[in-house]
Amino acid sequence: MGSEVGAAPKAGPRRTRRAVLFGGVGVFAVAAIAGQDELRRAWWLLPGVGKPRKEGEVDHAGVGWTSASPANWRLADRPEDYRVDRIVVHVTQGSFASSVDAFKSPFHQASAHYIVGQDGRIEQMVREMDVAFHSGNRAMNERSVGIEHEGFVDRPQDFTQALYAASARLAADVCRRYGIPVDRRHIVAHSEVPGTDHTDPGPHWDWDRYLGLVRSELATAPA
Ligand SMILES: [Zn+2]
Repeated sequence: MGSEVGAAPKAGPRRTRRAVLFGGVGVFAVAAIAGQDELRRAWWLLPGVGKPRKEGEVDHAGVGWTSASPANWRLADRPEDYRVDRIVVHVTQGSFASSVDAFKSPFHQASAHYIVGQDGRIEQMVREMDVAFHSGNRAMNERSVGIEHEGFVDRPQDFTQALYAASARLAADVCRRYGIPVDRRHIVAHSEVPGTDHTDPGPHWDWDRYLGLVRSELATAPA
């Protein structure tokens, strides 16, 4: 499970590096091409956000969409403003539904880009271009995609074949789109993130199996 508590300052100032460079000009440029429907939902046309977003738009084919509370993530324009070169593997320590609810809560102080269920379903809750608060480490959050897996670290039976397969397809897609190497330096455990006190995904997570599945997905997927 992700948590920002006790880590680097929560959601920093909304003015990102891009905002400093382009100021209000970017807002008008985006607004000019966005059209009336987009303008009514202008909250995302803030400095630092170079691209209009559509509610429900997802980054990986076939996943569902539920928006995490805006309190649990930060607007960004990745990979333009931050390079994405890590995947952080998490375990929810709760059910799929309770994790979705947690990330929707403005008091939870954490979120992840994706939650993978034991039945293989996936819900995206934060756009990959944005920074989800999942690792407890600001720099790691800015450079990574966070994937939660439904289960408990001490219950190996929670890590089903369907869960591994769906997560591996997702991870392979992320690796392909950002050019991330499939190895344990770039696909890391939450427990390996500097400064964290979290233990997920724990000793029962089968890294060899997972990376093998990611590699075979990449080998068979269209270029
Ligand atoms: Zn975690």
